[in-house]
Amino acid sequence: MKISRLAFTLIVVLSCASITNYAQDKATFQTKKYTIVIHGGAGTISQSMPDSIKEAYLNSLAAALNIGKDILARGGTGLDAVEKVLSYFESDPKFNAGIGAVYTSAGTHEMDASIMDGRDLSCGAVAGVQHIAHPISLARLVMEKTPHVLLAYDGAEKFAQSMGITLEPSTYFDTPERLEQLHEMQKKIKEGNHGTVGCAVLDEYGNLAAGTSTGGMTNKMPGRIGDSPLIGDGTYANNKTCAVSCTGWGEKFIKNTVAFNVSALMEYKGMTLKEAADEMIYKRLQPDDGGLIAVDRNGNYTMPFNTSGMFRGVATSSGEFEVKIWK
Ligand code: ASP
Repeated sequence: MKISRLAFTLIVVLSCASITNYAQDKATFQTKKYTIVIHGGAGTISQSMPDSIKEAYLNSLAAALNIGKDILARGGTGLDAVEKVLSYFESDPKFNAGIGAVYTSAGTHEMDASIMDGRDLSCGAVAGVQHIAHPISLARLVMEKTPHVLLAYDGAEKFAQSMGITLEPSTYFDTPERLEQLHEMQKKIKEGNHGTVGCAVLDEYGNLAAGTSTGGMTNKMPGRIGDSPLIGDGTYANNKTCAVSCTGWGEKFIKNTVAFNVSALMEYKGMTLKEAADEMIYKRLQPDDGGLIAVDRNGNYTMPFNTSGMFRGVATSSGEFEVKIWK
């Protein structure tokens, strides 16, 4: 009698566990509700930019947002949406990621990226890669195929080759606009930086995911790593709270552990997503440091910044679709 009761309990426990796994992997609890927020960098963005350039940026933001929205609306995962949106930006030279990456002071390119899965805090990142067209996809491979979180420089590129990724020549990342920015920065004619890309998503399964990809800051020292590949600083996702991607002056975001702190303020202090993000951007950081995009587990979103502008956009299952640059 005792044995059969034990067997019955075991059957109940095991079947509950397998339902939970199934729901986590795909969809017993498919909500049909999603939210996606994206950014293409915060910084000094002149409102007097020519209309044609403004249009080009808004079109790219809308195209990226549509890629993510379509994946989510078809029942795809948040991680896929994050990777595909950021891959799109990495192929667009207007943005400081992949092919449009800024130059270091040595005239080279060193790119950083990270991705995080809010289901179980699994995450992956790469830093200082010089020959990878899509650092966000390599970050995802670090998460899914290695026991590590962050691979950098040659080790990251050797791992890429072992995964069948072709290394690009460094000239692949050269663009005249970024070279001019380097020269202006070196002559101190113009400061300012923008174009890092990020994405945060709540998918139809109630899972949160976030990712960030960047060339870093123009004229940075070779070897400098910013906040974007650092989990908790530039990127964070936790199903209990929110998914966050940051952009701006990386050293400030590292010192203030911004992405994790948004989540922690929600979890430990009971703040709403907006309260937590505003606390970090407007109270802990200084004016002109940057901004972030974030979504919580109920699909609420926020996109605060303390710079003059931030390229950004949002799409939701309830039909909201908007791309913006200034307040
Ligand atoms: N946060 C990035 C970095 O410091 C740059 C940016 O977001 O514009 O590398």
